[in-house]
Amino acid sequence: MTRGRSNEAEFARARHAIPGGVDSPVRAYGSVGGTPRFLVRARGASVWDVEGREYTDLVCSWGPALLGHAHPEVVAAVQQAAADGLSFGAPTPGETLLAEEIRARVPGAEKVRLVSTGTEATMTALRLARGATGRPLVVKFAGHYHGHSDGLLAQAGSGVATQGLPGSAGVPEPIAAQTLVLPYNDLAALATAFAAHPGRIAAVITEAAGANAGVLRPDPGFNAALARICHENGTLLVLDEVLTGFRVGPAGWWGLDETPFTPDLVTFGKVVGGGMPLAALGGRPELMDLLAPLGPVYQAGTLSGNPLAVAAGLATLRLADATVYAHVDRAAGVVADAVERELAAAGVAAVVPRAGNLFSIAFRTGTVRDYDDARDQEDWRYPPFFAAMLEQGVSLPPSVYEAWFLSSAHDDAALDRILRALPAAAGAAAA
Ligand code: PLP
Repeated sequence: MTRGRSNEAEFARARHAIPGGVDSPVRAYGSVGGTPRFLVRARGASVWDVEGREYTDLVCSWGPALLGHAHPEVVAAVQQAAADGLSFGAPTPGETLLAEEIRARVPGAEKVRLVSTGTEATMTALRLARGATGRPLVVKFAGHYHGHSDGLLAQAGSGVATQGLPGSAGVPEPIAAQTLVLPYNDLAALATAFAAHPGRIAAVITEAAGANAGVLRPDPGFNAALARICHENGTLLVLDEVLTGFRVGPAGWWGLDETPFTPDLVTFGKVVGGGMPLAALGGRPELMDLLAPLGPVYQAGTLSGNPLAVAAGLATLRLADATVYAHVDRAAGVVADAVERELAAAGVAAVVPRAGNLFSIAFRTGTVRDYDDARDQEDWRYPPFFAAMLEQGVSLPPSVYEAWFLSSAHDDAALDRILRALPAAAGAAAA
Protein backbone atom coordinates (compact mmCIF):
# COMPACT_ATOMS: atom_id res chain seq x y z
CA MET A 1 0.00 0.00 0.00
CA THR A 2 2.67 2.47 1.04
CA ARG A 3 5.74 0.80 -0.47
CA GLY A 4 8.34 3.25 -1.74
CA ARG A 5 6.87 6.31 -0.07
CA SER A 6 8.80 8.36 2.45
CA ASN A 7 7.91 11.06 4.93
CA GLU A 8 10.57 13.31 3.38
CA ALA A 9 9.11 12.96 -0.10
CA GLU A 10 5.56 13.51 1.15
CA PHE A 11 6.63 16.62 3.05
CA ALA A 12 8.52 18.03 0.07
CA ARG A 13 5.51 17.46 -2.16
CA ALA A 14 3.07 18.86 0.40
CA ARG A 15 5.08 22.06 0.74
CA HIS A 16 4.47 22.85 -2.92
CA ALA A 17 0.73 22.64 -2.56
CA ILE A 18 0.08 23.55 1.08
CA PRO A 19 1.64 26.43 3.09
CA GLY A 20 4.33 24.83 5.23
CA GLY A 21 3.07 21.44 4.05
CA VAL A 22 0.49 21.28 6.84
CA ASP A 23 -3.09 22.33 7.52
CA SER A 24 -2.45 23.25 11.16
CA PRO A 25 0.88 24.80 12.22
CA VAL A 26 2.11 22.59 15.09
CA ARG A 27 2.00 19.55 12.81
CA ALA A 28 4.99 20.97 10.90
CA TYR A 29 7.46 19.95 13.67
CA GLY A 30 8.74 23.56 13.58
CA SER A 31 9.75 23.61 17.24
CA VAL A 32 11.13 20.06 17.44
CA GLY A 33 12.83 19.81 14.06
CA GLY A 34 12.87 16.87 11.70
CA THR A 35 10.28 15.69 9.24
CA PRO A 36 6.64 15.35 10.19
CA ARG A 37 5.36 11.81 9.95
CA PHE A 38 2.73 11.53 7.22
CA LEU A 39 0.18 9.16 8.66
CA VAL A 40 -1.93 6.73 6.71
CA ARG A 41 -3.60 4.60 9.37
CA ALA A 42 -4.46 4.60 13.04
CA ARG A 43 -5.90 1.91 15.27
CA GLY A 44 -6.14 1.68 19.04
CA ALA A 45 -3.04 3.24 20.61
CA SER A 46 -1.01 3.16 17.38
CA VAL A 47 -0.55 5.21 14.24
CA TRP A 48 1.34 4.20 11.08
CA ASP A 49 3.24 6.47 8.71
CA VAL A 50 3.68 6.22 4.93
CA GLU A 51 6.87 4.23 5.47
CA GLY A 52 4.92 1.57 7.31
CA ARG A 53 6.40 2.42 10.72
CA GLU A 54 4.18 2.01 13.75
CA TYR A 55 4.21 4.56 16.58
CA THR A 56 2.55 4.39 19.96
CA ASP A 57 0.55 7.58 19.90
CA LEU A 58 0.42 10.15 22.69
CA VAL A 59 -1.26 12.80 20.56
CA CYS A 60 -4.60 11.02 20.04
CA SER A 61 -5.57 13.56 17.36
CA TRP A 62 -4.94 16.29 20.01
CA GLY A 63 -7.59 14.85 22.26
CA PRO A 64 -10.57 13.39 20.40
CA ALA A 65 -9.39 9.75 20.41
CA LEU A 66 -10.45 9.04 24.01
CA LEU A 67 -11.33 5.45 23.06
CA GLY A 68 -8.23 5.02 20.92
CA HIS A 69 -8.16 5.33 17.15
CA ALA A 70 -10.84 3.79 14.94
CA HIS A 71 -12.83 2.18 17.73
CA PRO A 72 -14.89 -0.45 15.89
CA GLU A 73 -18.24 0.70 17.28
CA VAL A 74 -17.53 4.34 16.43
CA VAL A 75 -16.41 3.39 12.93
CA ALA A 76 -19.54 1.25 12.46
CA ALA A 77 -21.77 4.14 13.56
CA VAL A 78 -20.07 6.46 11.07
CA GLN A 79 -20.29 3.88 8.27
CA GLN A 80 -24.00 3.44 8.91
CA ALA A 81 -24.53 7.18 8.92
CA ALA A 82 -22.51 7.56 5.71
CA ALA A 83 -24.61 4.93 3.99
CA ASP A 84 -27.69 6.98 4.87
CA GLY A 85 -26.35 10.23 3.43
CA LEU A 86 -23.37 12.48 4.07
CA SER A 87 -25.05 15.79 4.79
CA PHE A 88 -28.62 17.02 4.57
CA GLY A 89 -28.56 20.67 5.61
CA ALA A 90 -31.75 19.93 7.53
CA PRO A 91 -32.40 18.96 11.15
CA THR A 92 -31.82 15.31 12.05
CA PRO A 93 -32.96 13.27 15.09
CA GLY A 94 -29.32 12.48 15.94
CA GLU A 95 -28.56 16.13 16.72
CA THR A 96 -31.20 16.13 19.44
CA LEU A 97 -29.83 12.87 20.86
CA LEU A 98 -26.33 14.32 21.03
CA ALA A 99 -27.58 17.56 22.62
CA GLU A 100 -29.45 15.46 25.20
CA GLU A 101 -26.35 13.34 25.87
CA ILE A 102 -24.27 16.48 26.51
CA ARG A 103 -26.95 17.98 28.74
CA ALA A 104 -27.21 14.78 30.77
CA ARG A 105 -23.50 15.00 31.58
CA VAL A 106 -23.18 18.77 32.05
CA PRO A 107 -26.45 20.06 33.51
CA GLY A 108 -25.45 23.73 32.95
CA ALA A 109 -25.58 23.04 29.21
CA GLU A 110 -29.38 22.92 29.25
CA LYS A 111 -29.59 23.90 25.61
CA VAL A 112 -26.86 23.03 23.14
CA ARG A 113 -25.94 24.31 19.68
CA LEU A 114 -23.75 22.05 17.55
CA VAL A 115 -21.02 23.59 15.39
CA SER A 116 -18.05 22.14 13.52
CA THR A 117 -14.93 23.34 15.37
CA GLY A 118 -13.87 24.50 18.80
CA THR A 119 -12.99 27.84 17.22
CA GLU A 120 -16.61 28.32 16.17
CA ALA A 121 -17.85 27.28 19.60
CA THR A 122 -15.80 29.88 21.50
CA MET A 123 -16.34 32.56 18.85
CA THR A 124 -20.10 32.03 19.05
CA ALA A 125 -20.08 31.93 22.85
CA LEU A 126 -18.40 35.33 22.96
CA ARG A 127 -20.73 36.83 20.36
CA LEU A 128 -23.60 35.52 22.44
CA ALA A 129 -22.12 36.99 25.63
CA ARG A 130 -21.74 40.37 23.94
CA GLY A 131 -25.25 40.14 22.51
CA ALA A 132 -26.70 39.22 25.90
CA THR A 133 -24.89 41.90 27.91
CA GLY A 134 -24.57 44.67 25.32
CA ARG A 135 -20.94 45.05 26.45
CA PRO A 136 -17.84 45.07 24.22
CA LEU A 137 -14.89 43.65 26.18
CA VAL A 138 -13.71 40.10 26.76
CA VAL A 139 -11.12 38.88 29.26
CA LYS A 140 -8.88 35.93 28.40
CA PHE A 141 -5.86 34.50 30.15
CA ALA A 142 -2.32 34.50 28.78
CA GLY A 143 -1.34 31.07 27.49
CA HIS A 144 -4.92 29.89 27.08
CA TYR A 145 -5.95 28.87 23.58
CA HIS A 146 -9.53 29.17 22.44
CA GLY A 147 -9.11 28.64 18.70
CA HIS A 148 -8.08 31.07 16.01
CA SER A 149 -10.84 33.66 15.82
CA ASP A 150 -9.49 37.23 15.59
CA GLY A 151 -10.23 38.36 19.12
CA LEU A 152 -8.77 35.31 20.82
CA LEU A 153 -5.26 35.04 19.42
CA ALA A 154 -3.61 37.54 21.77
CA GLN A 155 -1.00 35.76 23.92
CA ALA A 156 -2.63 32.49 22.97
CA GLY A 157 -1.36 29.03 23.78
CA SER A 158 -0.96 26.02 21.49
CA GLY A 159 0.71 26.84 18.14
CA VAL A 160 0.90 30.55 18.98
CA ALA A 161 2.90 29.69 22.11
CA THR A 162 4.95 27.10 20.25
CA GLN A 163 6.02 29.72 17.72
CA GLY A 164 6.56 32.28 20.49
CA LEU A 165 4.20 34.78 18.86
CA PRO A 166 2.43 37.60 20.73
CA GLY A 167 -0.65 37.13 18.53
CA SER A 168 -1.35 37.10 14.82
CA ALA A 169 -0.82 39.50 11.95
CA GLY A 170 -4.09 40.39 10.26
CA VAL A 171 -6.01 41.13 13.44
CA PRO A 172 -6.97 44.83 13.29
CA GLU A 173 -5.98 46.83 16.35
CA PRO A 174 -9.58 47.83 17.20
CA ILE A 175 -10.50 44.13 17.40
CA ALA A 176 -7.44 43.17 19.45
CA ALA A 177 -8.24 46.06 21.80
CA GLN A 178 -11.55 44.41 22.74
CA THR A 179 -9.66 41.55 24.42
CA LEU A 180 -8.00 42.11 27.79
CA VAL A 181 -5.29 39.53 28.46
CA LEU A 182 -4.61 38.75 32.12
CA PRO A 183 -2.21 36.41 33.91
CA TYR A 184 -3.81 33.08 34.80
CA ASN A 185 -4.57 32.16 38.40
CA ASP A 186 -4.35 35.84 39.39
CA LEU A 187 -7.57 37.07 40.98
CA ALA A 188 -6.02 40.42 41.90
CA ALA A 189 -5.38 41.14 38.20
CA LEU A 190 -8.99 40.25 37.49
CA ALA A 191 -10.26 42.62 40.18
CA THR A 192 -8.09 45.38 38.71
CA ALA A 193 -9.49 44.77 35.23
CA PHE A 194 -13.07 44.94 36.48
CA ALA A 195 -12.29 48.15 38.37
CA ALA A 196 -10.70 49.68 35.27
CA HIS A 197 -13.60 48.81 32.93
CA PRO A 198 -16.79 49.05 34.96
CA GLY A 199 -19.86 47.74 33.13
CA ARG A 200 -17.87 47.01 29.96
CA ILE A 201 -16.73 43.39 30.30
CA ALA A 202 -19.15 41.03 28.55
CA ALA A 203 -17.36 37.78 29.34
CA VAL A 204 -14.39 36.12 30.92
CA ILE A 205 -13.33 33.09 28.91
CA THR A 206 -11.10 30.50 30.56
CA GLU A 207 -9.91 27.01 29.74
CA ALA A 208 -11.59 24.85 32.36
CA ALA A 209 -8.07 23.66 33.16
CA GLY A 210 -5.29 25.19 31.11
CA ALA A 211 -3.69 22.70 28.72
CA ASN A 212 -2.35 24.75 25.82
CA ALA A 213 0.82 26.19 27.36
CA GLY A 214 1.62 22.84 28.76
CA VAL A 215 -0.77 21.94 31.54
CA LEU A 216 -1.69 24.91 33.76
CA ARG A 217 -3.94 23.64 36.49
CA PRO A 218 -6.34 26.17 37.99
CA ASP A 219 -5.56 26.93 41.64
CA PRO A 220 -8.10 25.33 43.99
CA GLY A 221 -11.19 27.54 44.00
CA PHE A 222 -9.96 29.69 41.07
CA ASN A 223 -12.79 28.79 38.69
CA ALA A 224 -15.37 29.26 41.45
CA ALA A 225 -13.91 32.66 42.32
CA LEU A 226 -13.99 33.58 38.63
CA ALA A 227 -17.67 32.69 38.47
CA ARG A 228 -18.44 34.70 41.60
CA ILE A 229 -16.55 37.80 40.46
CA CYS A 230 -18.11 37.61 37.00
CA HIS A 231 -21.60 37.36 38.42
CA GLU A 232 -21.03 40.24 40.87
CA ASN A 233 -20.15 42.35 37.83
CA GLY A 234 -22.93 41.25 35.46
CA THR A 235 -20.34 39.45 33.32
CA LEU A 236 -20.75 35.97 31.84
CA LEU A 237 -18.26 33.19 32.52
CA VAL A 238 -17.49 31.13 29.41
CA LEU A 239 -15.92 27.84 30.44
CA ASP A 240 -13.92 26.43 27.54
CA GLU A 241 -14.03 22.65 27.82
CA VAL A 242 -13.09 22.04 24.18
CA LEU A 243 -10.00 20.14 25.29
CA THR A 244 -11.00 18.93 28.76
CA GLY A 245 -14.68 18.20 28.06
CA PHE A 246 -15.52 14.47 28.23
CA ARG A 247 -11.77 13.76 28.31
CA VAL A 248 -10.75 14.29 31.94
CA GLY A 249 -14.05 12.89 33.15
CA PRO A 250 -17.67 12.28 32.14
CA ALA A 251 -18.55 15.91 32.91
CA GLY A 252 -15.20 17.39 31.91
CA TRP A 253 -13.08 19.49 34.27
CA TRP A 254 -16.26 21.11 35.61
CA GLY A 255 -17.17 17.70 37.05
CA LEU A 256 -13.72 17.31 38.65
CA ASP A 257 -13.13 20.79 40.05
CA GLU A 258 -12.81 20.73 43.85
CA THR A 259 -15.07 23.77 44.33
CA PRO A 260 -18.53 23.75 42.74
CA PHE A 261 -19.33 26.67 40.44
CA THR A 262 -21.77 27.57 37.70
CA PRO A 263 -20.48 28.84 34.37
CA ASP A 264 -22.88 30.69 32.07
CA LEU A 265 -21.76 29.17 28.78
CA VAL A 266 -19.69 26.04 28.19
CA THR A 267 -17.88 25.12 24.98
CA PHE A 268 -17.04 21.59 23.87
CA GLY A 269 -15.04 20.07 21.02
CA LYS A 270 -12.61 17.22 20.35
CA VAL A 271 -14.03 14.17 22.23
CA VAL A 272 -17.61 15.35 21.62
CA GLY A 273 -17.07 14.70 17.91
CA GLY A 274 -15.30 11.38 18.39
CA GLY A 275 -12.66 12.30 15.78
CA MET A 276 -15.02 14.01 13.34
CA PRO A 277 -15.42 17.79 12.92
CA LEU A 278 -17.93 18.63 15.62
CA ALA A 279 -18.03 21.01 18.57
CA ALA A 280 -20.76 22.59 20.67
CA LEU A 281 -21.72 25.34 23.04
CA GLY A 282 -24.30 25.11 25.78
CA GLY A 283 -25.94 27.19 28.46
CA ARG A 284 -29.22 28.06 30.09
CA PRO A 285 -32.21 28.60 27.80
CA GLU A 286 -32.59 32.34 28.27
CA LEU A 287 -29.04 32.80 26.97
CA MET A 288 -29.01 30.10 24.30
CA ASP A 289 -32.37 31.25 22.92
CA LEU A 290 -30.75 34.55 21.99
CA LEU A 291 -29.16 32.64 19.11
CA ALA A 292 -30.81 32.75 15.68
CA PRO A 293 -33.46 31.75 14.73
CA LEU A 294 -35.07 32.66 18.08
CA GLY A 295 -32.90 35.63 18.94
CA PRO A 296 -30.79 38.41 17.44
CA VAL A 297 -27.34 36.77 17.78
CA TYR A 298 -26.52 35.19 14.43
CA GLN A 299 -24.78 31.85 14.05
CA ALA A 300 -25.06 29.20 11.34
CA GLY A 301 -23.17 26.46 9.51
CA THR A 302 -23.63 24.45 6.30
CA LEU A 303 -22.15 21.39 8.00
CA SER A 304 -23.32 22.10 11.58
CA GLY A 305 -24.62 18.91 13.16
CA ASN A 306 -23.27 16.85 10.27
CA PRO A 307 -24.79 13.35 10.55
CA LEU A 308 -21.46 11.50 10.36
CA ALA A 309 -19.92 13.72 13.02
CA VAL A 310 -23.00 13.37 15.21
CA ALA A 311 -22.88 9.58 14.85
CA ALA A 312 -19.20 9.52 15.88
CA GLY A 313 -19.83 11.83 18.83
CA LEU A 314 -22.87 9.92 20.07
CA ALA A 315 -21.14 6.55 19.82
CA THR A 316 -18.08 7.93 21.62
CA LEU A 317 -20.01 9.50 24.48
CA ARG A 318 -22.15 6.41 24.92
CA LEU A 319 -19.04 4.24 25.17
CA ALA A 320 -17.17 6.64 27.47
CA ASP A 321 -18.25 5.13 30.77
CA ALA A 322 -16.60 5.07 34.19
CA THR A 323 -14.37 2.14 33.15
CA VAL A 324 -12.98 4.15 30.24
CA TYR A 325 -12.13 7.14 32.45
CA ALA A 326 -10.62 4.91 35.15
CA HIS A 327 -8.42 3.29 32.50
CA VAL A 328 -7.28 6.58 30.94
CA ASP A 329 -6.60 8.09 34.39
CA ARG A 330 -4.50 5.10 35.41
CA ALA A 331 -2.59 4.91 32.12
CA ALA A 332 -1.88 8.65 32.21
CA GLY A 333 -0.67 8.36 35.79
CA VAL A 334 1.70 5.53 34.88
CA VAL A 335 3.23 7.51 32.00
CA ALA A 336 3.39 10.83 33.87
CA ASP A 337 5.07 9.18 36.88
CA ALA A 338 7.57 7.45 34.60
CA VAL A 339 8.40 10.69 32.76
CA GLU A 340 9.03 12.42 36.07
CA ARG A 341 11.11 9.50 37.36
CA GLU A 342 13.27 9.08 34.26
CA LEU A 343 14.00 12.79 33.85
CA ALA A 344 15.01 12.95 37.52
CA ALA A 345 17.18 9.86 37.11
CA ALA A 346 18.91 11.52 34.15
CA GLY A 347 19.54 14.61 36.28
CA VAL A 348 17.25 16.86 34.23
CA ALA A 349 15.46 19.65 36.10
CA ALA A 350 11.83 19.07 35.10
CA VAL A 351 8.32 18.99 36.48
CA VAL A 352 5.25 17.25 35.11
CA PRO A 353 2.23 19.50 35.66
CA ARG A 354 -1.05 17.53 35.74
CA ALA A 355 -4.77 18.21 35.54
CA GLY A 356 -6.82 15.02 35.73
CA ASN A 357 -5.50 12.67 33.06
CA LEU A 358 -3.72 15.50 31.21
CA PHE A 359 -0.06 16.25 31.78
CA SER A 360 2.97 17.80 30.11
CA ILE A 361 6.65 18.43 30.79
CA ALA A 362 8.14 21.74 31.88
CA PHE A 363 11.94 21.77 31.94
CA ARG A 364 12.26 23.79 35.14
CA THR A 365 11.71 23.40 38.86
CA GLY A 366 8.87 24.76 41.00
CA THR A 367 5.20 25.17 40.34
CA VAL A 368 3.88 26.22 36.96
CA ARG A 369 0.86 28.46 37.56
CA ASP A 370 0.78 30.83 34.62
CA TYR A 371 2.13 31.52 31.15
CA ASP A 372 5.24 33.32 32.42
CA ASP A 373 6.12 30.25 34.50
CA ALA A 374 5.47 27.99 31.50
CA ARG A 375 7.77 29.99 29.24
CA ASP A 376 10.48 30.23 31.88
CA GLN A 377 11.94 26.81 31.13
CA GLU A 378 14.74 25.14 29.20
CA ASP A 379 12.44 24.30 26.32
CA TRP A 380 15.45 23.47 24.11
CA ARG A 381 15.60 20.18 26.00
CA TYR A 382 12.36 19.00 24.41
CA PRO A 383 13.47 18.52 20.75
CA PRO A 384 16.10 15.86 21.60
CA PHE A 385 13.68 14.21 24.04
CA PHE A 386 10.96 14.20 21.37
CA ALA A 387 13.32 12.89 18.67
CA ALA A 388 14.55 10.05 20.88
CA MET A 389 10.98 8.96 21.61
CA LEU A 390 10.04 9.13 17.93
CA GLU A 391 13.12 7.14 16.97
CA GLN A 392 11.96 4.43 19.37
CA GLY A 393 8.44 4.40 17.95
CA VAL A 394 6.60 6.71 20.35
CA SER A 395 4.85 9.76 18.93
CA LEU A 396 4.63 12.74 21.33
CA PRO A 397 3.03 16.13 20.77
CA PRO A 398 5.58 18.02 18.65
CA SER A 399 5.78 20.91 21.13
CA VAL A 400 6.64 21.19 24.80
CA TYR A 401 3.67 23.56 25.15
CA GLU A 402 1.09 20.84 24.44
CA ALA A 403 -0.51 18.28 26.73
CA TRP A 404 -0.04 14.55 26.21
CA PHE A 405 -3.14 12.47 25.50
CA LEU A 406 -3.81 8.84 26.32
CA SER A 407 -6.80 6.65 25.57
CA SER A 408 -8.63 3.58 26.80
CA ALA A 409 -6.75 1.67 24.07
CA HIS A 410 -3.41 2.34 25.78
CA ASP A 411 -3.05 -1.15 27.20
CA ASP A 412 -0.12 -2.61 29.10
CA ALA A 413 1.78 -3.37 25.88
CA ALA A 414 1.47 0.26 24.74
CA LEU A 415 2.50 1.56 28.16
CA ASP A 416 5.44 -0.80 28.15
CA ARG A 417 6.65 0.58 24.79
CA ILE A 418 6.44 4.12 26.16
CA LEU A 419 8.18 3.24 29.43
CA ARG A 420 11.00 1.42 27.66
CA ALA A 421 11.63 4.43 25.41
CA LEU A 422 11.79 7.00 28.22
CA PRO A 423 15.29 6.42 29.67
CA ALA A 424 17.03 7.11 26.35
CA ALA A 425 14.84 10.17 25.76
CA ALA A 426 15.60 11.50 29.24
CA GLY A 427 19.27 10.93 28.52
CA ALA A 428 18.94 12.91 25.29
CA ALA A 429 17.24 15.76 27.19
CA ALA A 430 20.11 15.80 29.68
CA ALA A 431 22.80 16.20 27.06
N1 PLP B 1 -10.43 25.73 22.94
C1 PLP B 1 -9.48 24.92 23.44
C2 PLP B 1 -9.32 24.84 24.92
C3 PLP B 1 -8.67 24.17 22.60
O1 PLP B 1 -7.72 23.38 23.12
C4 PLP B 1 -8.87 24.28 21.20
C5 PLP B 1 -8.02 23.50 20.27
O2 PLP B 1 -7.04 22.93 20.61
C6 PLP B 1 -9.86 25.13 20.72
C7 PLP B 1 -10.64 25.84 21.61
C8 PLP B 1 -10.10 25.26 19.25
O3 PLP B 1 -10.67 24.10 18.73
P1 PLP B 1 -10.52 23.75 17.17
O4 PLP B 1 -9.09 23.42 16.93
O5 PLP B 1 -11.46 22.60 16.98
O6 PLP B 1 -10.97 24.96 16.42
